[in-house]
Amino acid sequence: MKVAELQSELTEYAKSIGVDKIGFTTASPFHELKNRLRRQQELGFQSGFEESDVELRTEPLKLLDGAESIIAIALAYPSRMENAPIGKKGARRGIFCRASWGVDYHVAVRERLQLIEEWLIARVPDVKIKSMVDTGELVDRAVAERAGIGWSGKNCSIITPEFGSYIYLGELITNIPFIPDEPIEDECGDCTLCIDVCPTGAIVEAGQLNSQRCIAFLTQTKGFLPDEFRSKIGNRIYGCDTCQTVCPKNKGKINWLHEEFKPDPELAKPLLQPLLTISNKEFKAKFGHVSGSWRGKKPIQRNAILALAHFKEEAAVPDLIDIMKRDERPVIRGTAAWALGKIGGDEAAQALRAAKVREQDPEVLLEIQKGIALL
Ligand code: SF4
Ligand code: SF4
Repeated sequence: MKVAELQSELTEYAKSIGVDKIGFTTASPFHELKNRLRRQQELGFQSGFEESDVELRTEPLKLLDGAESIIAIALAYPSRMENAPIGKKGARRGIFCRASWGVDYHVAVRERLQLIEEWLIARVPDVKIKSMVDTGELVDRAVAERAGIGWSGKNCSIITPEFGSYIYLGELITNIPFIPDEPIEDECGDCTLCIDVCPTGAIVEAGQLNSQRCIAFLTQTKGFLPDEFRSKIGNRIYGCDTCQTVCPKNKGKINWLHEEFKPDPELAKPLLQPLLTISNKEFKAKFGHVSGSWRGKKPIQRNAILALAHFKEEAAVPDLIDIMKRDERPVIRGTAAWALGKIGGDEAAQALRAAKVREQDPEVLLEIQKGIALL
């Protein structure tokens, strides 16, 4: 079978298995990206979750012998929830970002990559393939951009004309010389909305992100959240969508295309207080299948405490006092102390003063002092 014929049949097949967009590019090195990644490393702007070897991230031939092409795929995810519960006094809610709604996208994208791999093997028995999603070496967004899936927005998302930036990406490197697609034109124009609204100033300039300031990254860390960000994360308990929700290119892109990505509203916007005392077993049973649970329950609980502080939720004071006294994890005890100071009131003040006498951990003690100063 000729390559062009194979490519067009593959494109059809991909659509039939729920791939919303497919693009092709060569396996040549990503030269410009290499410089950009080195610069990001020098500036300390990376999250630390990514592959640290810049060569591997930018040279497909180092990942697959005889690499000729990369197939990029995109699956669109919903931007709106049906029957979204509304939080209120006494029953405040947090929010998981959209990329954590429904089943873990790593599973959904990997399933499609696997099917494409099997489809190719059936037609080209000696084909060589290496596929990846998110945690692979290649930079999904750079591949998608070059393969014509979308342009790279000033908010660093890949924006498609069809689904906006609400897409999951994955790719397969192959030794088949597929015909490359053309990248699509950047349509950001003079707009700077995403840069203007970012709560932490994480978009340093168009297309350059300081991950260390980005709430999407900060909500995934396990230590104390630095003070300057505590009042900025709002009720986000995992991820941040602000620079996407404001983007005019996402207007009207609801993307209710896949049943598997439709969120359970009680999980995507969970009540905050029950999260404070949830057991490991319960957490796994409830949230284990969503991508936002990959760092375990501790960051989610820390963020839930900060969200309760954001709402100044007085009803949470007894629970916060309890975890400040009893939780084994200093980050949770200390964050609870800070939150009690933020919420204030006699009960919180009394508990903080008592904790100051009792607490042994220097980091927690510092948070107690900060809490007292906030009263
Ligand atoms: Fe800023 Fe949130 Fe976008 Fe990160 S995800 S750049 S914090 S708006
Ligand atoms: Fe581009 Fe404006 Fe969207 Fe930012 S908000 S990505 S500048 S179109």
